[in-house]
Parts: sequence; structure tokens; C-alpha cells
Amino acid sequence: MKRNILIIGGGGVARVVAHKCAQNNAVLGDIHIASRTLAKCHAIIDSIHDKGSLQRPGTLQAHALDAMDIEATKFLIRATRSQIVINVGSPFLNMSVLTACIETGTAYLDTAIHEDPEKVCENPPWYGNYEWKRRQACKNARVTAVLGVGFDPGVVNAYARYAMDTYFDSVESIDIIDVNAGSHGRYFATNFDPEINFREFVSTAWSWENNAWKANAMFEHRKDWDMPVAGLSTTYLTGHDEIHSMSKNLGVPNIRFWMGFSEHYINVFTVLKNLGLLSQHSVRTARGQEIVPLEVVKAVLPDPASLAPAYSGKTCIGDLIKGRKDGLPQEVLIYNVCDHKTSFEEVGSQAISYTAGVPAVAAAMLIAEGTWDIGEMVNVEELDPKLFIALMNRMGLVTRVRSAQGDHIVDPQPDVIEASTDGKLLNYG
Ligand code: NDP
Repeated sequence: MKRNILIIGGGGVARVVAHKCAQNNAVLGDIHIASRTLAKCHAIIDSIHDKGSLQRPGTLQAHALDAMDIEATKFLIRATRSQIVINVGSPFLNMSVLTACIETGTAYLDTAIHEDPEKVCENPPWYGNYEWKRRQACKNARVTAVLGVGFDPGVVNAYARYAMDTYFDSVESIDIIDVNAGSHGRYFATNFDPEINFREFVSTAWSWENNAWKANAMFEHRKDWDMPVAGLSTTYLTGHDEIHSMSKNLGVPNIRFWMGFSEHYINVFTVLKNLGLLSQHSVRTARGQEIVPLEVVKAVLPDPASLAPAYSGKTCIGDLIKGRKDGLPQEVLIYNVCDHKTSFEEVGSQAISYTAGVPAVAAAMLIAEGTWDIGEMVNVEELDPKLFIALMNRMGLVTRVRSAQGDHIVDPQPDVIEASTDGKLLNYG
């Protein structure tokens, strides 16, 4: 069994990851949290103690770390005897942290694709530019690396795989739909790092159509969906991490990602973009200072983690899948609904962070227990999704399916999983 977790990052997602690791420390062992700003790690640890989240008494320690420094990261992994690293820092860190894991033989998890500060919306398949280049190195070192195991990417990849295995003989299209029907009450804010959020939308929106990549302009394609709980929801075709792996791994001709945006978001985004304030390239001010406009915008916007206390409403994220079963057309929406307020009450973060953090910890538990400790690099849709979905059902993220037969909870293996307090995660009895 692999134990002892090193969490990298001290933001909203790291807070969820740390709480969920604490709630399962009988399985996961010692918990270490490392980020650039040490105070953020201490604040997370204080909130774990305040909420009494530790499943049993155990180690919980904060560390200051620049995770771009591979040697410092290797040193910390060894010093803390960590066997699993959950990287929920900025996506600029992925390749440094992955390298540290490969060189120390440590399992690696992240929740977003690697980003180069100088580039945006990279050509497909984006994973081929970075992470997949280290596939053989992972295999040689027998290092398990599960890429993009948040909600989207992450759970939506597992949903696609589960639905294809369970409800279809053949699949024609997967539309991933991400709607946040919540409200934070601020004039303008992004739900996660503004820099990363804006970078997703400033250039080409890639989609997978008829087995080929298609370049779209952002906000070019709009579609309204009738979503559970959220109701009629307006979304726009957006480029997103998971399309870059699912297009390769699933053999489905059409895969698209749709994200919900309010008119207000689009207006503010458009003004910022047209003024050049979303550029990742530096400019020189009259006083001779070199600044990156996007970094300035980030600095003046609310810290996404600060939105959590006032956030109300729910998110609804899922896959609408169309294909055939037994010769007949079949349509299935597999999805989750998550409540901002409930998430905040449990772990002190809003639902966007909650839906990203819980899957990463479920994945760590499956690696700790051995089921997902496969000794190579994979994207989530390459792994058996059943235990993953079953485990998340018991950790606060419940999966539902809506089809012609109605709307019901999906519980792939109710008799298999028993979360227990004695350190044994899976009860095959
Ligand atoms: P935040 O911006 O709130 O947190 C990022 C953290 O990374 C900060 O604490 C930051 O430290 C730290 N960090 C940045 N650079 C370094 C460095 N060089 N060394 C050490 N730490 C560093 O982001 P979130 O918590 O909202 O998101 C975390 C990750 O999760 C991101 O990759 C995001 O894209 C991803 N995500 C994935 C989702 C999914 O469903 N798959 C959904 C939401 C987010 P400091 O505070 O000092 O700057």
C-alpha cells in the first residue's frame, strides 16, 4: 500500500484536497502541504483542525516550496517520505513536479494540462507537447501518473468511459457541459485562477468533429441545454484539456466542450481582451517597468478562494452522450450536481474547487490501495471508472444518469466499496 501524501499548492482546490485527505488519513497516511506562500498552507491546516476533519490523529505539516525547483521538490518528497504527490498548484508547475516524481519514484496526480507561460490554447493534442513526452520515462521508472484527475478534466473522462461501457454499443458524440448556476455576489470574479481562466478563452477553441480537429473562434458557437437543477442553460463551445486525450483514447467521432457564460462575463472579458489586458506577453510602461497585462488583471481581481463564504447555488457538470444500443438510438446524460454552500460548510471552499479536489483524492486512494497503481502515465478515461465513481459517491460527489428511462443515481459497485476506519479502503467481502 502506498501512503503519505504531498499536496502542492495552497489555493481553493488544495484546501479541498487537504480536507479530503484528512478525512481519509487512515488510508493515506501523513499529509504534507507545500506552496509558494507558507501562510496559505498554515491556514488550510488550521481549518482542518477547526472542522475536526482528521479521520484519526496523524501528521499534518506545512512547507514553503517553489515547485519550479525540481531539486527542492525532490528533497521535500524524500524528506516527507511521500509516495503520492497531488499537484494542485498552478498548471505552469506540471512538468517540474512530474520530473521530480519520476526521479524519486513517486506517484503523480494533477488536475489540469501543463501550460507554458508564453503560449495559450496550444495546438492539439496539447498533451503531446508536454506530459505525453514523459510516458516512457514513467514506464521505465514504474511511476503511476494520472493526468487531469479533477472534475473537468477528470470525472467527465471517467463518465464517458463508464457510459460507453455500460449504456452503448457505439457512440456518435460526447458533449461535455459545464454550467455554474451559482452566484458569488461580486461585480466580477473568476472561479479559479483568473490568469488560467482567461488564458483558456483568448484564442482558438478546439473541438473534435468527424474524427478531425476543428478550430473555432471563442463565443462563435452558442447552445442552450436543459440541465438538471440548473434548468435552461446558455453555453458556448470552448477548448478544454480533456478533448485532447479523449479524442485519442475513446474512438468517438465527435467530442465537444460547452461552458456556461453569463452576458456579463462575456462583456467584461471582451473589453479586457480588446484593450490588450489579457495578453500573456509583457509590455513596457512609461516608467520602464516590464509587466504582463494578464498578471496585473489577476492581481486586481478577487482571489477565487475568497468567494467561497458568500457563494450560493449549484454547479451541474456532465456528459451528454449519443449513440446506439441494441440497434436503437440511445441518449444519456451522466452528471453531478454540487452545492456551493454545502461545499463551503464542509471544507471552506466553493463547489468549483470541491468538484476538482474530491476526484484527485479519490484517485490517490485508489493508487494507495493498488487498484489504480498501474506504474505508467494515463489519462483518466484509460482507467476502469467503476470504483472511482463508487468512491466519489461516498466522498460527496454523487453521480446521476438521465435517460429515457428516468433519472437515477449511478452506483457501479455498491457491494464492493466500504470506506472504513481501519485503513482498509476496499472490502471485497
Ligand atoms: P489557485 O490559483 O487558487 O492556487 C494555485 C496555488 O499554486 C497557489 O497557492 C500558488 O501559490 C501555488 N503556486 C503557484 N506557483 C507556485 C510555485 N512555483 N511553487 C509552489 N506553489 C506555487 O488555483 P486553484 O486552487 O483554483 O486551482 C489549482 C489547480 O486546479 C489549477 O491547476 C487549476 O487549473 C486546477 N483546476 C482544475 C479543475 C478541474 O475540474 N479539473 C477545476 C478548477 C481548477 P501562491 O498563492 O503563493 O501564488
